[in-house]
Amino acid sequence: MVVIRGGRVVDPGHLDGIYDIYISEGRIVDIAAPSAGAASSPAVTEEIQAAGKIVTPGLIDMHVHLREPGYEYKETIATGCLAAACGGFTAVCPMPNTEPVNDRAEVCRFMISQAAASGVGVRVLPIGAISRDQEGKDLAEFAGLKEAGAVAVSDDGKPVSDDLLMRRAMEYAKGFGLPVISHCEVVSLAAGGAMNEGLASTRLGLAGIPNAAERIMVERDIALCELTGAALHIAHVSARESVRAIREAKKRGVPVTAETAPHFFMLTDEAVGEYDTAAKVNPPLRSEADREAVCEGLADGTIDAIASDHAPHSVMEKEVEFDLAANGISGLETSLALSLSLVRRNLISISRLVEAMSLAPARILGLPGGLAVGGPADITVIDPDMAWRVDAASFRSLGKNTPFDRWELQGKAVLTMVGGRVVYYGLAPGAGRCR
Ligand SMILES: [Zn+2]
Repeated sequence: MVVIRGGRVVDPGHLDGIYDIYISEGRIVDIAAPSAGAASSPAVTEEIQAAGKIVTPGLIDMHVHLREPGYEYKETIATGCLAAACGGFTAVCPMPNTEPVNDRAEVCRFMISQAAASGVGVRVLPIGAISRDQEGKDLAEFAGLKEAGAVAVSDDGKPVSDDLLMRRAMEYAKGFGLPVISHCEVVSLAAGGAMNEGLASTRLGLAGIPNAAERIMVERDIALCELTGAALHIAHVSARESVRAIREAKKRGVPVTAETAPHFFMLTDEAVGEYDTAAKVNPPLRSEADREAVCEGLADGTIDAIASDHAPHSVMEKEVEFDLAANGISGLETSLALSLSLVRRNLISISRLVEAMSLAPARILGLPGGLAVGGPADITVIDPDMAWRVDAASFRSLGKNTPFDRWELQGKAVLTMVGGRVVYYGLAPGAGRCR
């Protein structure tokens, strides 16, 4: 039996206090007040000292791109899982824009088997495509995808532009209990845009993407969600109008949920600086008013979850002209520390952070969540004070593309446990040891 001893256990709505967590055969067998000075029971074979640390249900990143199959030079499922483990994530949900697209059971099964073969131990819960080949014309095989282990459907990377197809997707997905994750973007409004439409784009002479390109699609999808009653999840919310639309929809009882990514609450379009492609993302980094609205949305629960939208790219796709550069940030290894900065700035509580990075993704995707006796021992131990410097070159992810390189951050996962097995251990300060 393993015991994680003396950490501050934060499981929102359930536990917040100093506890020992006992684990046996992959499951939590007891959560108890610390046995003050008492000798360990002989059944305890390993003790993990967690005093001064925060112990949470395993973090779940519900929006990542692992690039395999098809783009293994950007990331493999193995390297993505390693990055996830080091970032404190016990489970990740890869989006289907691979080659071939994950629009059928075989691709889904391949992803899961590659994860198992990697030996890292992080759970990989694929997201299937909404449309065949993500072409927005015919629906993918939801039944087969669900059967193979898909936890949601999405054409992420592309919007579903056809209103009727999106309606049918919601109706069909509802029957399988699959949430529909929407990449909200009106293609004609965003076309040709390389960054947010605003002062910065004008200064740089780059074509801009207006907030309305996101907002209009968010509002359409909310309307279709009301029509169908299906579970709708809005991916990577970046614009204040989207936050407002989701808040109002939730007030009406519409079953919509939403996520944002750390770059949207940390940065604005000023981060593009002088054509820095590390800050090129889709949707684009927005204005300060948008950044603040995203923070407010996270604080009041309008935005349910934080996901990294981990989008690794090779150097050759980023070290090109801004217009031509690929969109995305390699985010798995900085997501937690950036999110913890919201706690330090008193914008959200630690409990809200755990909700956004673990319980909400579990709830949205219908997974077991929280720290339950009898439940799987998926646990993250966080040192909230550990100061460290981002060094993209040393990322476990093959993607070194990040605007946060060389940032001084505070807070890091020091232990990641999946099903009772330690998949990452870096308790020694600064050790950053991985497996
Ligand atoms: Zn994405």
